Amino acid sequence: MSVPDNQICWTYGIQLSEVEAKEQQFRNSEWSPEQNEVMLQQVRNLSCPWGGRMADIVDATPKHLISKVFLEEKVFMTWYHGRTVLIGDACHKVLPTTGLGAANAFQDAVVLANCISNMKDWTQKSITGSFKEYYKQRFRRVNEQFEGSHMMARTMIGQSWSERMVRYAVLHCMPKCMQERNVDRRMEYRPQIAWLPLVEKRGAGHVQPQEGKRRVIG
Ligand SMILES: Cc1cc2nc3c(=O)[nH]c(=O)nc-3n(C[C@H](O)[C@H](O)[C@H](O)COP(=O)(O)OP(=O)(O)OC[C@H]3O[C@@H](n4cnc5c(N)ncnc54)[C@H](O)[C@@H]3O)c2cc1C
Repeated sequence: MSVPDNQICWTYGIQLSEVEAKEQQFRNSEWSPEQNEVMLQQVRNLSCPWGGRMADIVDATPKHLISKVFLEEKVFMTWYHGRTVLIGDACHKVLPTTGLGAANAFQDAVVLANCISNMKDWTQKSITGSFKEYYKQRFRRVNEQFEGSHMMARTMIGQSWSERMVRYAVLHCMPKCMQERNVDRRMEYRPQIAWLPLVEKRGAGHVQPQEGKRRVIG
């Protein structure tokens, strides 16, 4: 990824087996600058896609900007209980390959705010009703994106023979218009705050109608 002033951002991903993942998760709390050092020693001798070794990139990067992140994916079935409700990564984690995690967290926040604002009163029945409506609007969409993100991750970073073949086909043979159509379809869903005027549609792409009750103030 390019950034200003002749700098680069870089990331190095390692796929873990299920057994390794369990072990690493157990050690999650032990992550520290020393653990970073262990990780960096493991990648130093690997070849770098821009030429040379990963050590060249590592040595040129300020140490305090390097961190180790454990990526996992999961959509939980339960998002609310009583007066507690979850949004964002707390209820659905997707791999960063498709760049959707933060967008989904924002969309959750908008839809939940709309559902809460439509409550008739503050009884537990109304609260549960608003959480149910939020879950109904969001779960299916998040789950679809989870499946898409999972497939994309396998395609872009999978290391098996078949995954490499699929990656080659997608990157070299898939027409650009097909790739663009996929992105356009993802952008069609744009939930907006129910009590504010709708944002003017300026692009050419299709926008899905807003879900739920709208009651614009003023
Ligand atoms: C390497 C990487 C790249 C990514 N790239 C993209 C991208 O390009 N586009 C995109 O849309 N998404 C991307 N994501 C995903 C995105 O960062 C997350 O989906 C998003 O930050 C989720 O927001 P959140 O508010 O749900 O959770 P978080 O951002 O994790 O916020 C939770 C907050 O709660 C705090 N917290 C935790 N426990 C407690 C506690 N007990 N008490 C008080 N506070 C607590 C945490 O410190 C944290 O600040 C990426 C993620 C990673 C790891």
